[in-house]
Amino acid sequence: MRSVMRCPRDGTELAKVSIIGLELDKCHKCDGIWFDRGELEKVSHAKVQDVEELLEKKYGDPTYAEGDVHAYMRCPRCGDRLLKQHYTYLNPVSVDACHKCYGFWVDDTELDAIIGEEQELEKEDHEVRHFFGHVFKKLFKREG
Ligand SMILES: [Zn+2]
Ligand SMILES: [Zn+2]
Repeated sequence: MRSVMRCPRDGTELAKVSIIGLELDKCHKCDGIWFDRGELEKVSHAKVQDVEELLEKKYGDPTYAEGDVHAYMRCPRCGDRLLKQHYTYLNPVSVDACHKCYGFWVDDTELDAIIGEEQELEKEDHEVRHFFGHVFKKLFKREG
């Protein structure tokens, strides 16, 4: 049997929540979310708007068992120490990463910032491609 996962920030038991077919572990006290390896990428690429708001609506006002506050943050999955890591390029968002099982702890509002940036980057990428498409069309246009 799997042991209970606890919030690395405040020790509260993490609750199962599901979004876009993924099962995530969320702390209902501080609204942080644990992402196992690969899950954060899936959510940030899925172009879901307002994930945090969706989760709040779906799982709002829960009852939870509070735990003790830890001296420093440990991975809820494997117990290894979590390390601060920059996750984004444009916005200053740092998440807490486990370098052993490759999971991420994402605090309240950080998820929306990550998804927002993903969409910004995609828009930029689209604009760049559009620009080059235009340049190439000009370059290879036969002169008549
Ligand atoms: Zn928490
Ligand atoms: Zn871990």
